Amino acid sequence: MAKIKMSVPIVEIDGDEMTRILWKGIKEKLILPYVELNTEYYDLDLKNRDLTEDKVTYEAAHAIKRLGVGVKCATITPNADRVKEYGLKKMYKSPNGTIREILDGTVFRAPIICKGIMPYIPGWKKPIIIARHAYGDIYKNAEAKASEGDKAELVITRADGREERLPIHSFDCDGVVQGVHNTDRSISSFARACFNYALDVKMNLYFATKDTISKTYDHRFKDIFLEIYQNEYKERFEDAGITFLYTLIDDAVARVIRSEGGFIWACKNYDGDVMSDMVATAYGSLAMMTSVLVSPDGKYEFEAAHGTVTRHYYRHLKGEETSTNSVATIFAWTGALRKRGEFDGNAPLIDFASALEKACADTIESGVMTKDLIPIFSLEGITPSAVNTFDFLDEIAKRISI
Ligand code: NAP
Ligand code: MG
Repeated sequence: MAKIKMSVPIVEIDGDEMTRILWKGIKEKLILPYVELNTEYYDLDLKNRDLTEDKVTYEAAHAIKRLGVGVKCATITPNADRVKEYGLKKMYKSPNGTIREILDGTVFRAPIICKGIMPYIPGWKKPIIIARHAYGDIYKNAEAKASEGDKAELVITRADGREERLPIHSFDCDGVVQGVHNTDRSISSFARACFNYALDVKMNLYFATKDTISKTYDHRFKDIFLEIYQNEYKERFEDAGITFLYTLIDDAVARVIRSEGGFIWACKNYDGDVMSDMVATAYGSLAMMTSVLVSPDGKYEFEAAHGTVTRHYYRHLKGEETSTNSVATIFAWTGALRKRGEFDGNAPLIDFASALEKACADTIESGVMTKDLIPIFSLEGITPSAVNTFDFLDEIAKRISI
């Protein structure tokens, strides 16, 4: 059979530890036999980031801006221990943070659904995709302790030098105080990324804040979303047969639990941080969660939501057997191949992405899976059995049918 051709390259961003091993296996066993893979390769292996003083991360992000579609392997975000372990010149920033900043992107996280992996919420039949606004609020705050007798005020020095003071609290005992901000620019980018993505995947969109309590701050988020929706997206949503709903965060939480899934839930930074972990856990496993970064001008970067699975890697280095789940990383590849196919009108590439995704589901549904899924798997008539990292890839390869 002739291999599928690709006219425009995908930006391929390699990474670290166990996921780097999966990366190689996925390409060799699942993709290269079918696709004449055309990629622009950037190696974000921590040693190479150190060698290039992190230039390679910036180059990779700019390549996504240029080519439109990237796929990324999980990477180590160095901390003090890693600086020592790898003898790094400095403690580099999180590559995901750098790429997100350059693309001004929003991260959408979606669970991979297959039969036998039942969500903890039995009513959830379809994916719930969480979009997290990854700028500002408590993540860029100023905070301090206060003592009895202290007075805290919010001081804004206006552009003309005028000082405006708002009382926060006069402390009659010890306490704490915090200042946060956001910008119209960032909120608008977030809103557009959410509206575009909803149109892209044809799913309803919810957005929620606490505007009844925070009448200026959270209300600004509400106003920006509603304004952009009215002016730029309402008609397109109606044409696509999808809806946008703004509601209070409390109401959103209640609706989400009662729902059967199948929508995008746009969250403020903190809500998204917390709710994405809740939703991921409720769907069963972090190893079955994908993540896509979408910029307001429609560039895409696909990856797994989990990290480099360090504990498995150390076992692998010692020559011990591992059973690491490659599904989320495979779906990062299929997401990128499908998007490239859509951009270039390459139907065989889109079909291949779907066939590979189906092979993953078929493998698990037949009872063959990695160890992490065994405790959460239940399907009538099927006794699950665990396979190692590499046999799992072979089992998927056997089931690809195009
Ligand atoms: P992690 O790599 O997600 O792994 C945490 C634990 O979750 C693993 O030890 C494993 O549990 C389980 N797990 C995660 N993915 C799995 C998979 N595919 N198959 C089977 N089990 C899986 O998180 P971490 O250990 O906190 O972080 C490791 C490194 O990843 C850190 O250096 C961090 O900076 C980096 N990281 C990168 C990204 C990214 O690039 N997007 C995201 C998060 C973290 P058991 O050991 O119990 O089997
Ligand atoms: Mg979190």
